[in-house]
Amino acid sequence: MTKDIVVLGAGVGGLVASNKLRSKLGKDCQIFLVDRRTKYEFTPSYLWAMIGRRQPSQLMKELGRLSRKGISYINAEITKIDPQNRLVKTSAKDLKYDYLVVSLGADLVPNAVPGFQEAAHNLYDLSSLAHLKETLNQFSQGTLTVLISSMPFKCPAAPYEAVLLVDYLLRQRNVRNTVNVQIYTPEPFPMPVAGSAVGDAVKEILQRRNIDFHPRTKPVSIDTDKKRIIFENGEEAGSDLLLGVPAHNSATIVRETEGLTDQSGWVPVDKGTLQTHFDDVYAIGDVAAIKLPSGMMLPKAGVFAHYEAEVVAHNIVADIQGGTGTEFDGRGYCFLETGHGKAAFVNGNFYASPAPAIKLRQPSRIWHWGKILFEKYWMWRWF
Ligand SMILES: Cc1cc2nc3c(=O)[nH]c(=O)nc-3n(C[C@H](O)[C@H](O)[C@H](O)COP(=O)(O)OP(=O)(O)OC[C@H]3O[C@@H](n4cnc5c(N)ncnc54)[C@H](O)[C@@H]3O)c2cc1C
Repeated sequence: MTKDIVVLGAGVGGLVASNKLRSKLGKDCQIFLVDRRTKYEFTPSYLWAMIGRRQPSQLMKELGRLSRKGISYINAEITKIDPQNRLVKTSAKDLKYDYLVVSLGADLVPNAVPGFQEAAHNLYDLSSLAHLKETLNQFSQGTLTVLISSMPFKCPAAPYEAVLLVDYLLRQRNVRNTVNVQIYTPEPFPMPVAGSAVGDAVKEILQRRNIDFHPRTKPVSIDTDKKRIIFENGEEAGSDLLLGVPAHNSATIVRETEGLTDQSGWVPVDKGTLQTHFDDVYAIGDVAAIKLPSGMMLPKAGVFAHYEAEVVAHNIVADIQGGTGTEFDGRGYCFLETGHGKAAFVNGNFYASPAPAIKLRQPSRIWHWGKILFEKYWMWRWF
């Protein structure tokens, strides 16, 4: 039976979904994958680019390679999603679909905090990180701040990884004792969705490295002339070098699609099947809003986009070929690079009730090597 499946976004979720669908469906089913980018970027290694351990080009893959596998990759801007008419409009062509997988991720909004764009090095942008490497190599004295603009943000571990890698770099350069390193976040403790035991473990790692941790501090603006951050609670902090996580929104086109998002701006989905309010339309990865039994939201991380994509691909194939469906079970993991050739490892079940059951394994060389293997595997497996 001929079916057209359209996958929107060639990031983590879109890549896994389109690969899995292609490998299980015959040539009578077409798989279209649409993205405005021509290259995929492997975000978990971004921060290695900041400390010179990777060149940006090592973290990229041409999306055009996917056509060799029989995935119809379309490099275009998505301009309209029309679930009522089962249609997607793009700058290249219109696509009718039988099944639609939305994996359009989160947009970064640096100007949500006035002054951020001008004053901060964006930790979530690969080209900005490559420039930051030069700045960090010159910085020898003063206050260095990692600032989280707002919640939610992608990869709850990433800002902590950033501050620990910066600390490592300064120690390597023998200038750490003349630099005050601090991190400010609106969170009550690090990675709150993983629970207070994980938060305490991360705080302890920061403390051991003499990094000042400032919870419950949400920036409202940055005075670029005076080099000061102004927080919602009225407090202020000075900083000579500012590294920041910008605010996030769901992808613009998703917010513009009537009936797809809720008042939060993200897409509510069934936590097991990732089905949206619309028939045969699934939303996976960062764009999806999944409420956990604890009342918190499932974090935005590639590992979830990956597993959710596998579930959605399996269920679409089962629907077409006849078969038993499956459900996403909430498992996830991430590496937290700490420098000195080591990483911590956080894993567990985020769907556990009444609260996620998550553990942090202390930094060791094993997890650092685990992350290197993970990178190699990813860059090979999906291209
Ligand atoms: C520094 C950093 C480190 C990270 N480390 C980790 C980690 O170690 N582990 C982990 O699990 N996660 C990590 N993440 C998070 C991870 O990158 C995201 O959670 C993941 O990429 C989400 O996948 P996705 O498919 O939902 O969206 P994305 O991978 O962001 O893909 C969305 C795609 O949609 C495209 N798009 C959006 N709108 C349009 C449009 N209108 N037209 C055309 N194309 C469009 C974009 O170009 C993009 O390619 C990290 C993120 C950062 C920034």
